[in-house]
Amino acid sequence: MLLGAIADDFTGATDLCSMLVRGGMRTVQLIGVPRPGDPAPDADAVVVALKSRTAPVRQAIDESLAALTWLRAAGCRQFFFKYCSTFDSTDAGNIGPVADALTAALDCGFALACPAFPANARSVYQGYLFVGGNLLNESGMEHHPLTPMTDANLVRVLSRQTDGTVGLVPYATVEQGAIAIRRAMTALKEQGRRYAIVDAVSDAHLVAIGEAAEHHALITGGSGVAMGLPENFRRAGLLTERGDAASLPAVSGHAAVIAGSCSRATLAQLGAARDVLPVLQLDPVAQPDTETMVATARDWIADKLGDTPVVIAASALPDQVAALQRMLGRDGAGALIEQTLARIAEDLVARGVRRLVVAGGETAGAVVSRLGVRSLLIGGEIDPGVPWTYAEGGATPLLLALKSGNFGAYDFFTKAFDVPQGGRAFARNSA
Ligand code: ADP
Repeated sequence: MLLGAIADDFTGATDLCSMLVRGGMRTVQLIGVPRPGDPAPDADAVVVALKSRTAPVRQAIDESLAALTWLRAAGCRQFFFKYCSTFDSTDAGNIGPVADALTAALDCGFALACPAFPANARSVYQGYLFVGGNLLNESGMEHHPLTPMTDANLVRVLSRQTDGTVGLVPYATVEQGAIAIRRAMTALKEQGRRYAIVDAVSDAHLVAIGEAAEHHALITGGSGVAMGLPENFRRAGLLTERGDAASLPAVSGHAAVIAGSCSRATLAQLGAARDVLPVLQLDPVAQPDTETMVATARDWIADKLGDTPVVIAASALPDQVAALQRMLGRDGAGALIEQTLARIAEDLVARGVRRLVVAGGETAGAVVSRLGVRSLLIGGEIDPGVPWTYAEGGATPLLLALKSGNFGAYDFFTKAFDVPQGGRAFARNSA
Protein backbone atom coordinates (compact mmCIF):
# COMPACT_ATOMS: atom_id res chain seq x y z
CA MET A 1 0.00 0.00 0.00
CA LEU A 2 1.37 3.39 -0.96
CA LEU A 3 -0.79 6.14 0.48
CA GLY A 4 -2.71 6.07 3.76
CA ALA A 5 -5.18 8.89 4.32
CA ILE A 6 -7.27 10.02 7.25
CA ALA A 7 -10.33 12.08 6.34
CA ASP A 8 -12.25 14.16 8.87
CA ASP A 9 -15.63 13.43 7.30
CA PHE A 10 -17.39 10.87 5.23
CA THR A 11 -18.23 12.50 1.92
CA GLY A 12 -14.87 14.32 2.03
CA ALA A 13 -13.19 10.93 2.19
CA THR A 14 -15.03 9.83 -0.93
CA ASP A 15 -13.98 13.02 -2.69
CA LEU A 16 -10.30 12.23 -1.97
CA CYS A 17 -10.80 8.64 -3.11
CA SER A 18 -12.18 9.87 -6.42
CA MET A 19 -9.17 12.12 -6.93
CA LEU A 20 -6.77 9.20 -6.36
CA VAL A 21 -8.74 6.86 -8.63
CA ARG A 22 -8.65 9.50 -11.36
CA GLY A 23 -4.86 9.44 -11.01
CA GLY A 24 -4.83 5.67 -11.53
CA MET A 25 -4.57 4.49 -7.92
CA ARG A 26 -6.83 1.65 -6.85
CA THR A 27 -8.46 3.07 -3.73
CA VAL A 28 -10.52 1.75 -0.84
CA GLN A 29 -12.45 3.83 1.68
CA LEU A 30 -12.79 2.34 5.16
CA ILE A 31 -15.65 3.43 7.40
CA GLY A 32 -14.27 4.41 10.80
CA VAL A 33 -11.00 3.29 12.37
CA PRO A 34 -10.15 -0.24 11.26
CA ARG A 35 -9.70 -2.80 14.02
CA PRO A 36 -6.08 -3.69 14.80
CA GLY A 37 -6.18 -7.12 13.14
CA ASP A 38 -8.25 -6.07 10.10
CA PRO A 39 -6.48 -7.14 6.90
CA ALA A 40 -5.23 -4.43 4.55
CA PRO A 41 -7.25 -4.27 1.34
CA ASP A 42 -5.61 -4.97 -1.99
CA ALA A 43 -5.27 -1.33 -3.03
CA ASP A 44 -2.73 1.41 -3.72
CA ALA A 45 -4.42 3.85 -1.36
CA VAL A 46 -6.65 3.57 1.66
CA VAL A 47 -8.73 6.44 3.01
CA VAL A 48 -10.04 6.03 6.54
CA ALA A 49 -13.26 8.04 6.86
CA LEU A 50 -13.79 9.51 10.32
CA LYS A 51 -16.47 11.85 11.62
CA SER A 52 -13.89 13.95 13.43
CA ARG A 53 -14.44 17.40 11.94
CA THR A 54 -16.68 18.58 14.75
CA ALA A 55 -15.98 15.88 17.33
CA PRO A 56 -14.41 16.86 20.67
CA VAL A 57 -10.70 17.60 20.06
CA ARG A 58 -9.43 14.68 22.15
CA GLN A 59 -11.65 12.21 20.33
CA ALA A 60 -10.58 13.57 16.93
CA ILE A 61 -6.91 13.17 17.90
CA ASP A 62 -7.32 9.68 19.34
CA GLU A 63 -9.24 8.36 16.34
CA SER A 64 -6.80 9.95 13.90
CA LEU A 65 -3.83 8.43 15.73
CA ALA A 66 -5.50 5.02 15.85
CA ALA A 67 -6.10 5.26 12.09
CA LEU A 68 -2.46 6.26 11.57
CA THR A 69 -1.23 3.29 13.59
CA TRP A 70 -3.31 0.92 11.47
CA LEU A 71 -2.20 2.55 8.20
CA ARG A 72 1.46 2.31 9.25
CA ALA A 73 1.03 -1.35 10.12
CA ALA A 74 -0.55 -1.83 6.68
CA GLY A 75 2.71 -0.61 5.14
CA CYS A 76 1.73 2.81 3.78
CA ARG A 77 4.69 4.90 2.65
CA GLN A 78 3.09 8.32 2.87
CA PHE A 79 0.22 9.77 4.88
CA PHE A 80 -2.42 12.35 4.08
CA PHE A 81 -4.70 14.24 6.44
CA LYS A 82 -7.77 15.32 4.46
CA TYR A 83 -9.95 18.18 5.59
CA CYS A 84 -12.45 20.43 3.88
CA SER A 85 -11.48 22.79 1.07
CA THR A 86 -13.05 25.58 3.15
CA PHE A 87 -10.77 24.63 6.09
CA ASP A 88 -13.83 23.91 8.29
CA SER A 89 -12.62 24.22 11.88
CA THR A 90 -12.75 26.43 14.96
CA ASP A 91 -9.98 28.09 16.96
CA ALA A 92 -10.04 24.97 19.15
CA GLY A 93 -9.50 22.67 16.17
CA ASN A 94 -9.71 20.16 14.89
CA ILE A 95 -7.33 20.64 11.97
CA GLY A 96 -4.38 22.02 13.99
CA PRO A 97 -4.52 19.59 16.93
CA VAL A 98 -4.92 16.54 14.67
CA ALA A 99 -2.09 17.70 12.39
CA ASP A 100 0.07 18.32 15.48
CA ALA A 101 -0.59 14.80 16.73
CA LEU A 102 0.13 13.24 13.32
CA THR A 103 3.39 15.19 12.77
CA ALA A 104 4.51 14.20 16.27
CA ALA A 105 3.63 10.53 15.76
CA LEU A 106 5.44 10.47 12.42
CA ASP A 107 8.30 12.52 13.87
CA CYS A 108 8.43 14.53 10.65
CA GLY A 109 8.45 17.99 12.20
CA PHE A 110 6.79 19.64 9.20
CA ALA A 111 3.80 19.37 6.90
CA LEU A 112 2.32 21.50 4.17
CA ALA A 113 -1.27 22.66 4.46
CA CYS A 114 -3.20 23.38 1.28
CA PRO A 115 -7.00 23.23 1.07
CA ALA A 116 -7.07 24.74 -2.46
CA PHE A 117 -9.26 23.07 -5.07
CA PRO A 118 -9.46 25.48 -8.01
CA ALA A 119 -11.77 23.19 -10.00
CA ASN A 120 -14.28 23.68 -7.17
CA ALA A 121 -13.51 27.42 -6.93
CA ARG A 122 -11.39 27.18 -3.78
CA SER A 123 -8.09 28.98 -4.20
CA VAL A 124 -5.41 30.20 -1.84
CA TYR A 125 -3.52 33.40 -2.61
CA GLN A 126 -1.03 35.01 -0.20
CA GLY A 127 -2.41 32.62 2.39
CA TYR A 128 -5.98 33.92 1.95
CA LEU A 129 -8.62 31.36 1.05
CA PHE A 130 -11.14 32.39 -1.61
CA VAL A 131 -14.41 30.67 -2.42
CA GLY A 132 -15.10 31.75 -5.97
CA GLY A 133 -14.47 35.49 -5.98
CA ASN A 134 -15.10 35.94 -2.26
CA LEU A 135 -12.87 35.70 0.73
CA LEU A 136 -13.73 32.72 2.90
CA ASN A 137 -15.18 34.96 5.62
CA GLU A 138 -17.53 36.61 3.07
CA SER A 139 -18.55 33.39 1.32
CA GLY A 140 -21.40 32.32 3.60
CA MET A 141 -19.01 30.08 5.54
CA GLU A 142 -18.91 32.77 8.24
CA HIS A 143 -22.47 31.64 9.09
CA HIS A 144 -21.77 27.90 9.27
CA PRO A 145 -23.62 26.55 12.33
CA LEU A 146 -20.71 24.41 13.60
CA THR A 147 -17.53 25.80 12.08
CA PRO A 148 -18.06 29.49 11.26
CA MET A 149 -15.06 30.71 9.26
CA THR A 150 -14.61 34.38 10.14
CA ASP A 151 -10.98 34.81 9.04
CA ALA A 152 -9.75 34.03 5.51
CA ASN A 153 -6.05 34.23 6.40
CA LEU A 154 -5.07 30.59 6.85
CA VAL A 155 -1.68 31.39 8.36
CA ARG A 156 -3.54 33.11 11.20
CA VAL A 157 -6.31 30.50 11.38
CA LEU A 158 -3.92 27.56 11.63
CA SER A 159 -1.62 29.47 14.02
CA ARG A 160 -4.49 29.75 16.47
CA GLN A 161 -5.01 25.97 16.39
CA THR A 162 -1.44 24.74 16.88
CA ASP A 163 1.36 25.14 19.37
CA GLY A 164 3.76 25.16 16.39
CA THR A 165 4.34 28.06 13.99
CA VAL A 166 3.03 28.53 10.48
CA GLY A 167 4.75 29.95 7.41
CA LEU A 168 3.66 30.65 3.84
CA VAL A 169 4.86 29.50 0.43
CA PRO A 170 3.48 32.34 -1.66
CA TYR A 171 2.10 32.37 -5.18
CA ALA A 172 5.30 33.78 -6.72
CA THR A 173 7.24 30.75 -5.49
CA VAL A 174 4.53 28.22 -6.37
CA GLU A 175 4.41 29.66 -9.88
CA GLN A 176 8.10 28.72 -10.33
CA GLY A 177 7.32 25.04 -9.91
CA ALA A 178 8.16 22.02 -7.80
CA ILE A 179 11.86 22.70 -7.16
CA ALA A 180 11.22 26.23 -5.91
CA ILE A 181 8.34 25.03 -3.72
CA ARG A 182 10.48 22.28 -2.23
CA ARG A 183 13.28 24.74 -1.45
CA ALA A 184 10.83 27.14 0.19
CA MET A 185 9.35 24.37 2.35
CA THR A 186 12.82 23.17 3.36
CA ALA A 187 13.76 26.72 4.34
CA LEU A 188 10.61 27.10 6.44
CA LYS A 189 11.27 23.79 8.16
CA GLU A 190 14.85 24.86 8.92
CA GLN A 191 13.47 28.08 10.41
CA GLY A 192 11.48 25.92 12.79
CA ARG A 193 8.07 26.31 11.16
CA ARG A 194 5.85 23.30 11.62
CA TYR A 195 3.48 24.12 8.79
CA ALA A 196 3.45 25.94 5.50
CA ILE A 197 0.26 27.22 3.98
CA VAL A 198 0.94 26.84 0.27
CA ASP A 199 -0.77 29.08 -2.28
CA ALA A 200 -2.50 27.45 -5.27
CA VAL A 201 -4.86 28.92 -7.82
CA SER A 202 -4.61 26.33 -10.60
CA ASP A 203 -4.37 22.58 -11.09
CA ALA A 204 -0.79 23.07 -12.32
CA HIS A 205 0.04 24.53 -8.90
CA LEU A 206 -1.50 21.53 -7.14
CA VAL A 207 0.50 19.11 -9.27
CA ALA A 208 3.74 21.04 -8.59
CA ILE A 209 3.02 21.08 -4.85
CA GLY A 210 2.41 17.33 -4.89
CA GLU A 211 5.71 16.79 -6.69
CA ALA A 212 7.52 19.04 -4.21
CA ALA A 213 6.13 16.99 -1.32
CA GLU A 214 7.13 13.65 -2.83
CA HIS A 215 9.29 12.74 0.17
CA HIS A 216 7.12 14.26 2.88
CA ALA A 217 5.84 11.77 5.42
CA LEU A 218 2.64 13.78 5.91
CA ILE A 219 0.66 16.02 3.59
CA THR A 220 -2.40 17.89 4.82
CA GLY A 221 -5.08 19.53 2.75
CA GLY A 222 -8.19 19.19 0.64
CA SER A 223 -8.54 16.53 -2.02
CA GLY A 224 -7.12 18.96 -4.61
CA VAL A 225 -3.55 18.74 -3.36
CA ALA A 226 -3.66 14.95 -3.77
CA MET A 227 -3.78 15.51 -7.53
CA GLY A 228 -0.02 15.22 -7.99
CA LEU A 229 0.56 12.24 -5.70
CA PRO A 230 -0.23 9.32 -8.03
CA GLU A 231 2.37 10.62 -10.48
CA ASN A 232 5.02 10.65 -7.72
CA PHE A 233 4.44 6.97 -7.07
CA ARG A 234 4.38 6.21 -10.78
CA ARG A 235 7.66 8.06 -11.35
CA ALA A 236 9.26 6.10 -8.53
CA GLY A 237 8.10 2.85 -10.17
CA LEU A 238 5.89 2.02 -7.18
CA LEU A 239 2.49 2.24 -8.82
CA THR A 240 1.86 -0.88 -10.81
CA GLU A 241 -0.70 -0.37 -13.55
CA ARG A 242 -3.43 -2.95 -13.30
CA GLY A 243 -5.93 -1.92 -15.87
CA ASP A 244 -8.71 0.40 -14.92
CA ALA A 245 -8.33 1.61 -11.33
CA ALA A 246 -12.04 2.49 -11.37
CA SER A 247 -13.43 -0.89 -12.34
CA LEU A 248 -15.74 -2.55 -9.83
CA PRO A 249 -16.97 -6.12 -9.57
CA ALA A 250 -20.27 -6.59 -11.41
CA VAL A 251 -23.34 -6.70 -9.18
CA SER A 252 -26.82 -7.36 -10.47
CA GLY A 253 -30.09 -6.58 -8.80
CA HIS A 254 -32.69 -3.85 -8.48
CA ALA A 255 -31.82 -0.16 -8.34
CA ALA A 256 -33.04 2.52 -5.94
CA VAL A 257 -32.46 6.05 -4.72
CA ILE A 258 -32.92 7.19 -1.13
CA ALA A 259 -32.94 10.94 -0.53
CA GLY A 260 -32.70 12.64 2.86
CA SER A 261 -30.94 15.79 1.73
CA CYS A 262 -33.02 18.97 1.64
CA SER A 263 -30.40 20.93 -0.25
CA ARG A 264 -31.32 22.78 -3.40
CA ALA A 265 -29.43 20.46 -5.75
CA THR A 266 -31.13 17.35 -4.36
CA LEU A 267 -34.59 18.93 -4.51
CA ALA A 268 -33.99 19.81 -8.18
CA GLN A 269 -32.70 16.29 -8.88
CA LEU A 270 -35.86 14.83 -7.33
CA GLY A 271 -37.96 17.14 -9.50
CA ALA A 272 -36.19 15.84 -12.61
CA ALA A 273 -36.52 12.20 -11.47
CA ARG A 274 -40.31 12.55 -11.02
CA ASP A 275 -40.69 12.84 -14.79
CA VAL A 276 -39.15 9.42 -15.48
CA LEU A 277 -39.02 7.31 -12.33
CA PRO A 278 -41.53 6.19 -9.68
CA VAL A 279 -41.01 8.42 -6.64
CA LEU A 280 -42.41 7.92 -3.14
CA GLN A 281 -42.45 11.19 -1.22
CA LEU A 282 -42.62 10.50 2.50
CA ASP A 283 -44.61 12.96 4.59
CA PRO A 284 -43.01 12.97 8.04
CA VAL A 285 -45.26 15.76 9.31
CA ALA A 286 -48.30 13.56 8.68
CA GLN A 287 -46.54 10.37 9.77
CA PRO A 288 -43.99 11.44 12.38
CA ASP A 289 -42.84 7.99 13.38
CA THR A 290 -40.42 5.51 11.90
CA GLU A 291 -42.63 2.41 11.92
CA THR A 292 -45.45 4.12 10.01
CA MET A 293 -43.14 5.51 7.36
CA VAL A 294 -41.26 2.20 7.00
CA ALA A 295 -44.63 0.43 6.53
CA THR A 296 -45.74 3.02 3.96
CA ALA A 297 -42.54 2.49 2.01
CA ARG A 298 -42.85 -1.28 2.26
CA ASP A 299 -46.38 -1.21 0.79
CA TRP A 300 -45.31 1.12 -1.96
CA ILE A 301 -42.22 -0.89 -2.91
CA ALA A 302 -44.18 -4.18 -3.08
CA ASP A 303 -45.05 -3.94 -6.79
CA LYS A 304 -42.42 -1.42 -7.87
CA LEU A 305 -39.14 -3.29 -7.93
CA GLY A 306 -38.20 -4.38 -11.42
CA ASP A 307 -35.98 -2.95 -14.12
CA THR A 308 -36.75 0.66 -13.28
CA PRO A 309 -34.97 2.37 -10.39
CA VAL A 310 -37.31 3.51 -7.61
CA VAL A 311 -36.90 6.70 -5.60
CA ILE A 312 -37.87 7.19 -1.94
CA ALA A 313 -37.46 10.69 -0.53
CA ALA A 314 -38.01 12.51 2.72
CA SER A 315 -36.42 15.64 1.28
CA ALA A 316 -38.59 18.70 1.76
CA LEU A 317 -38.72 22.46 1.29
CA PRO A 318 -37.61 24.69 4.17
CA ASP A 319 -41.16 25.37 5.46
CA GLN A 320 -41.91 21.64 5.75
CA VAL A 321 -38.54 20.98 7.39
CA ALA A 322 -39.30 23.78 9.85
CA ALA A 323 -42.74 22.28 10.57
CA LEU A 324 -41.22 18.92 11.53
CA GLN A 325 -38.53 20.65 13.57
CA ARG A 326 -41.22 22.55 15.50
CA MET A 327 -42.81 19.20 16.32
CA LEU A 328 -39.66 17.26 17.23
CA GLY A 329 -36.82 19.72 17.60
CA ARG A 330 -33.96 20.01 15.13
CA ASP A 331 -32.05 16.93 16.31
CA GLY A 332 -35.23 14.90 16.80
CA ALA A 333 -36.42 15.63 13.26
CA GLY A 334 -33.03 14.79 11.74
CA ALA A 335 -32.70 11.58 13.73
CA LEU A 336 -36.24 10.45 12.86
CA ILE A 337 -35.66 10.82 9.13
CA GLU A 338 -32.18 9.35 9.20
CA GLN A 339 -33.32 6.27 11.13
CA THR A 340 -36.34 5.85 8.90
CA LEU A 341 -34.38 6.08 5.66
CA ALA A 342 -31.74 3.69 7.02
CA ARG A 343 -34.47 1.15 7.84
CA ILE A 344 -35.97 1.58 4.36
CA ALA A 345 -32.53 1.05 2.82
CA GLU A 346 -32.27 -2.19 4.77
CA ASP A 347 -35.68 -3.30 3.44
CA LEU A 348 -34.66 -2.44 -0.12
CA VAL A 349 -31.49 -4.51 0.14
CA ALA A 350 -33.46 -7.39 1.67
CA ARG A 351 -35.74 -7.25 -1.38
CA GLY A 352 -32.87 -7.49 -3.84
CA VAL A 353 -31.78 -3.90 -4.41
CA ARG A 354 -28.06 -4.05 -5.20
CA ARG A 355 -27.51 -0.57 -6.66
CA LEU A 356 -28.36 2.19 -4.27
CA VAL A 357 -27.86 5.93 -4.47
CA VAL A 358 -28.13 7.82 -1.17
CA ALA A 359 -28.46 11.62 -1.21
CA GLY A 360 -27.31 13.54 1.88
CA GLY A 361 -24.13 13.32 3.96
CA GLU A 362 -25.80 12.54 7.30
CA THR A 363 -28.34 10.34 5.56
CA ALA A 364 -25.54 8.39 3.87
CA GLY A 365 -23.80 7.93 7.23
CA ALA A 366 -26.98 6.51 8.76
CA VAL A 367 -27.62 4.16 5.82
CA VAL A 368 -24.07 2.88 5.69
CA SER A 369 -23.95 2.13 9.39
CA ARG A 370 -27.37 0.44 9.35
CA LEU A 371 -26.28 -1.75 6.45
CA GLY A 372 -23.06 -2.64 8.29
CA VAL A 373 -20.85 -1.45 5.44
CA ARG A 374 -17.19 -1.40 6.47
CA SER A 375 -15.39 -0.61 3.23
CA LEU A 376 -16.01 0.95 -0.16
CA LEU A 377 -13.96 0.14 -3.25
CA ILE A 378 -14.09 3.29 -5.35
CA GLY A 379 -15.25 3.17 -8.98
CA GLY A 380 -15.97 5.68 -11.72
CA GLU A 381 -17.64 9.01 -11.02
CA ILE A 382 -21.25 9.73 -11.88
CA ASP A 383 -20.64 13.44 -11.40
CA PRO A 384 -17.52 15.11 -9.93
CA GLY A 385 -16.92 13.86 -6.38
CA VAL A 386 -19.61 11.16 -6.46
CA PRO A 387 -18.31 7.76 -7.56
CA TRP A 388 -20.03 4.42 -7.63
CA THR A 389 -18.52 2.24 -4.93
CA TYR A 390 -18.52 -1.47 -4.19
CA ALA A 391 -19.59 -1.82 -0.57
CA GLU A 392 -18.54 -4.73 1.57
CA GLY A 393 -19.19 -5.71 5.16
CA GLY A 394 -22.98 -5.85 5.06
CA ALA A 395 -25.20 -8.86 4.45
CA THR A 396 -24.34 -8.83 0.75
CA PRO A 397 -21.99 -6.83 -1.48
CA LEU A 398 -23.72 -3.98 -3.28
CA LEU A 399 -23.00 -0.89 -5.32
CA LEU A 400 -23.48 2.34 -3.41
CA ALA A 401 -23.26 5.96 -4.54
CA LEU A 402 -23.21 8.38 -1.62
CA LYS A 403 -24.01 11.89 -2.74
CA SER A 404 -23.30 14.92 -0.63
CA GLY A 405 -26.55 16.95 -0.81
CA ASN A 406 -25.31 19.74 -3.03
CA PHE A 407 -23.33 17.60 -5.46
CA GLY A 408 -24.38 16.41 -8.87
CA ALA A 409 -26.19 17.71 -11.95
CA TYR A 410 -30.00 17.94 -12.16
CA ASP A 411 -30.28 14.54 -13.89
CA PHE A 412 -28.08 12.76 -11.34
CA PHE A 413 -30.63 10.12 -10.31
CA THR A 414 -31.13 8.86 -13.84
CA LYS A 415 -27.56 9.42 -14.94
CA ALA A 416 -26.36 7.32 -12.00
CA PHE A 417 -27.83 4.22 -13.57
CA ASP A 418 -26.51 4.98 -17.03
CA VAL A 419 -22.82 4.96 -16.21
CA PRO A 420 -20.88 1.73 -16.46
CA GLN A 421 -20.85 -0.05 -13.13
CA GLY A 422 -18.45 -2.91 -12.77
CA GLY A 423 -17.92 -2.90 -16.48
CA ARG A 424 -21.57 -3.12 -17.49
CA ALA A 425 -23.86 -0.33 -18.38
CA PHE A 426 -27.31 -0.17 -16.89
CA ALA A 427 -29.83 1.11 -19.39
CA ARG A 428 -31.82 4.24 -18.69
CA ASN A 429 -35.34 3.38 -17.80
CA SER A 430 -38.44 5.39 -18.33
CA ALA A 431 -41.50 4.80 -16.23
P1 ADP B 1 -26.95 17.34 3.05
O1 ADP B 1 -25.82 16.54 2.48
O2 ADP B 1 -27.77 18.04 2.01
O3 ADP B 1 -26.51 18.24 4.19
P2 ADP B 1 -27.89 15.51 5.08
O4 ADP B 1 -28.44 14.14 4.90
O5 ADP B 1 -26.49 15.62 5.62
O6 ADP B 1 -27.98 16.25 3.67
O7 ADP B 1 -28.80 16.38 6.03
C1 ADP B 1 -30.15 16.53 5.80
C2 ADP B 1 -30.84 16.43 7.14
O8 ADP B 1 -32.20 16.82 6.96
C3 ADP B 1 -30.84 15.04 7.72
O9 ADP B 1 -30.59 15.09 9.11
C4 ADP B 1 -32.25 14.56 7.44
O10 ADP B 1 -32.66 13.59 8.39
C5 ADP B 1 -33.04 15.84 7.57
N1 ADP B 1 -34.34 15.79 6.86
C6 ADP B 1 -34.62 15.17 5.71
N2 ADP B 1 -35.90 15.35 5.36
C7 ADP B 1 -36.45 16.10 6.32
C8 ADP B 1 -37.78 16.63 6.52
N3 ADP B 1 -38.75 16.39 5.67
N4 ADP B 1 -37.98 17.37 7.63
C9 ADP B 1 -36.97 17.61 8.51
N5 ADP B 1 -35.73 17.15 8.36
C10 ADP B 1 -35.46 16.40 7.29
